[in-house]
Amino acid sequence: MFGLKEDWSLEVPERYFTLENYAGGVARWCPSCGDHAVLSAVQKICRDEQLPPEKVVAVSGIGCSSRFPHYMKTFGFHGLHGRALPVACGVKSRRPDLHVWVATGDGDCCSIGAGHWVHALRYNMDMTVMLFDNNIYGLTKKQTSPTSPLGLSTNTHPRGAWLPPLNVLQTTLGFTNISWVARTVDWNPLHLYQTLKAAYEHKGLSFVHILQRCPTYTDHIFDQWRDNPENILLLTHEQGIEADPAVAKMYKNHQEHDPSDIDTARQLAAETGRLPIGLFFHNPEAPIYDAYTNEGLSMTLEEKAAGLEAELDRFAI
Ligand code: SF4
Ligand code: MG
Repeated sequence: MFGLKEDWSLEVPERYFTLENYAGGVARWCPSCGDHAVLSAVQKICRDEQLPPEKVVAVSGIGCSSRFPHYMKTFGFHGLHGRALPVACGVKSRRPDLHVWVATGDGDCCSIGAGHWVHALRYNMDMTVMLFDNNIYGLTKKQTSPTSPLGLSTNTHPRGAWLPPLNVLQTTLGFTNISWVARTVDWNPLHLYQTLKAAYEHKGLSFVHILQRCPTYTDHIFDQWRDNPENILLLTHEQGIEADPAVAKMYKNHQEHDPSDIDTARQLAAETGRLPIGLFFHNPEAPIYDAYTNEGLSMTLEEKAAGLEAELDRFAI
């Protein structure tokens, strides 16, 4: 009939997300801080994977890098010092449909949060954990962190750090039930992007050790690798992270490393001169704790109440 629309179904246009859809507040990190590069890589991955912003959660503890959730226009949780990982596990256990990105620092994860570091990796819940390692506590103005090199003069050790630094990857590769462990550097955006993307694609907990420059407090600390690409050892393998030709050309020292080989992974982590980057370890068979925590999520309230009643009845006298 004239003037009347016959089909009243809603026409919902397909959504396409641009980088702006993931860009939160203006990042207030220092100029040239490596954190900017990591944020940019994560936003690009979200865009390239077309992740609905409402399905993304950024979780952090305390520290410079832990301001990460504020700069994502997604859900986020800026937690307590060292507590990024238990919060992320809690999110994942109740909302398995969400994509969880964890931002934690060398102080946050390897010191006060070390207990959670061990157990979250053992739980192997499906999330991407980014350890921003700048070898210092930046937010609290240059205190010695667990990864500060021996002899580094800091505000807590003006005459130089006394203890040898904790080796992040050697430590991680000693945990039980790890499933995906890699390293990248913030100053190579291609390798950073490809590593974080591969980490995102892994089903289980992917742990990425990121050497992150802090021009304010640990300037030049990574120069031996940043300025001398020949000191970088690029790990390659068909089961590893696909290296962009530009990355492979820049880093001429390659090593074929089967990521299922944990002994060689540990040897590589112990290297002191060259800096191995890429995928150290991958075990696709590691049990994923989500499978347990997700049980019963689809039950109705009535079904849950009936289940509870049945359990309680077992103790009736
Ligand atoms: Fe980045 Fe260092 Fe500045 Fe913190 S203090 S925002 S880590 S450059
Ligand atoms: Mg730090």
